[in-house]
This record gives sequence, structure tokens and C-alpha cells, in this order.
Amino acid sequence: MKIVDFIIPEKLPDARAALLELGEKGIPAAGCTAFQFYADGPERTAVLLNRLDLAGIRSTPEAFVIGAGTPLTTLHRFEAEGWALNGVIAQIASHQIRNISTLGGNIARVFPWADLPVALLALDGKILIQGREPRTYTVDQYFKTQPATLFTPGDLLTSIEVTPLAPNTGFAHVKQRMKSESFSMATASARVTIKDGIATDCRAAIGACIPFPTRINAIEEALAGSDPSDRPALDQAVTATLKPLSFLSKEGMSKDYIRHLAATTLADAIQQAAQDAQRRLS
Ligand SMILES: Cc1cc2nc3c(=O)[nH]c(=O)nc-3n(C[C@H](O)[C@H](O)[C@H](O)COP(=O)(O)OP(=O)(O)OC[C@H]3O[C@@H](n4cnc5c(N)ncnc54)[C@H](O)[C@@H]3O)c2cc1C
Repeated sequence: MKIVDFIIPEKLPDARAALLELGEKGIPAAGCTAFQFYADGPERTAVLLNRLDLAGIRSTPEAFVIGAGTPLTTLHRFEAEGWALNGVIAQIASHQIRNISTLGGNIARVFPWADLPVALLALDGKILIQGREPRTYTVDQYFKTQPATLFTPGDLLTSIEVTPLAPNTGFAHVKQRMKSESFSMATASARVTIKDGIATDCRAAIGACIPFPTRINAIEEALAGSDPSDRPALDQAVTATLKPLSFLSKEGMSKDYIRHLAATTLADAIQQAAQDAQRRLS
């Protein structure tokens, strides 16, 4: 892809109209940090989204409603009861990239190293796309395959709703990198609800080490009713539930090494989420 021109609309309908008219020759552009990862190819006109009033975070009793154009730095600095994304954003790339990358850009086209799809799968929530009609997807529906395939020309991601953590629920996001700004070899997120030291509910997801981020339903089921601080039992359950998955070889490491790394990373995320739940309870 080669950007040869750009348009800066002031309103959402104008941006959609420009993209509809351009068809395959147009591309939505938020922070533009991902464009360097696109293979060389056809010429495109970028339709910039940064004047569309798509940035900001609003709290409702059911969800944090985040505009798709919200920079990652804003998500990092935001504070509210039940908000859990600070620790995810702190682990993404560098300050410079977080200042201009947006939440929408991170999840409209999912790259293998992307952190937010993994975190959102664990946290639960909804994704809103404005097309001819507005459409809402649960995170499970949205991240079933590459979400870029859900968009037709003129469609724009407008907001993301993230479920807040309940008081007895904790969250953790863990990733493994060779160096602090390297791409992840294995990423895991977990949300765990605790009652009397026992996990009553869990959502867990992994990414980077497999072809596409996914929830690990088998560990969620295995964990219910167990004590997540029992690390040997947790390690055993995680290893068993990851067995059917195909892992990618990364950074010169074998697939088998990455499988072990993913198991440790997922167990760490679950244990840290359970500890976070205990901390929030006390
Ligand atoms: C060196 C480097 C390292 C990085 N490391 C990480 C990392 O470890 N973890 C991580 O999570 N991220 C990382 N990132 C960021 C990530 O790879 C993307 O570059 C970034 O999230 C894209 O955000 P953006 O706002 O710049 O989107 P853009 O680059 O503007 O757009 C990305 C894609 O989304 C589409 N798009 C954007 N907004 C919308 C919208 N509202 N509606 C529909 N389509 C839209 C665009 O058309 C494009 O296809 C890294 C980036 C760089 C440059």
C-alpha cells in the first residue's frame, strides 16, 4: 500500500461518504503507526479520522465507553473504579507510539503482536461499527477472525465498550519479549472472580504465540471452583488446555519452546489476576 493523497473530514458522515466514494482506493487513518507494516501495493487515499470527535472515555454503570480515536496514552492515564487497561497500555511499544496510536487502530486490523485484542477478550465488552446502519458485536464475535474482514468501504469503528471489574474481580496482562520494545513472543490476559479464595468465574485469552488471539475456554472451565494460588495444579491445567493449539515459532525459538512459554505466561496472568481480585477485596 502506498498513500498518495489524504482527506481530513470534520464530521463522521463526511468521512464515511469519502470512504464510500473512494471504495478500495481509500483507507481510514487514525494514528497511521501501522501503515509501515503494510506490504507495498496499490495507491490509496488516506481519510484521516482525528477531527471526528471520536476520542474520549465515558463511564456508565454497565461499561466504560471509549471512542475509537482515543490515543493509547489517554487509556494509560485514565483512572476509575473497575478500570483495568492502564497495565496493558504500559506494556505497548514506547511513549511516542502510545501518544499517537489509537484504540480503534489497534483493533480494526489485528497484527500478531497486538495487546488490546487479548486484553479485551479477557475483559469482555462490545465493539460498535458505524456502517449504513450501526452494528454492535460482542468481543467474542468481533475477534473470531481478522476483524478487518467485517468492514466494507465506508464502515468505521466508532466506540468500544469495556466491562468494568466487579469488586471481587481482578485482571492481569502478561507478555514475554526479548527486549522491552520488542514484539511479544507470548501474551496472556486473565480476568478472575474470587469468593473465599476460590475462583468462581474466569475469562482468559492468549495471543502473539498463535495465529490469532483467542479465548481459552477450557482453562476458564477448569479453573471454576479451584484455588488459583495452587500453582502446581494451575500449571498442570494450563498445560493440558493448551495442548490442542498450534503454536508459532518466534524469535528463532521452536514451537515447543513457545508452547511452554505460553503456558507459563497464561498461568502467570491467571495467578496475578486472582491476586489482584484479593487485593481489591481487602
Ligand atoms: C514499532 C512499533 C511497535 C509496536 N508494538 C506494539 C505492541 O507491542 N503491542 C501493540 O498492541 N501495538 C503495538 N504497536 C502499535 C500497533 O502495531 C499499531 O501500529 C497501532 O495500534 C495502530 O494504531 P493507529 O491509531 O496508529 O492506527 P492506524 O495505523 O491509523 O490504522 C491501523 C488500521 O486500522 C484501520 N483503522 C484505524 N482506525 C479505524 C476506525 N476507527 N475504523 C475503521 N478502521 C480503522 C486503518 O485503516 C488501518 O487499517 C506498535 C507499533 C509500532 C510502530
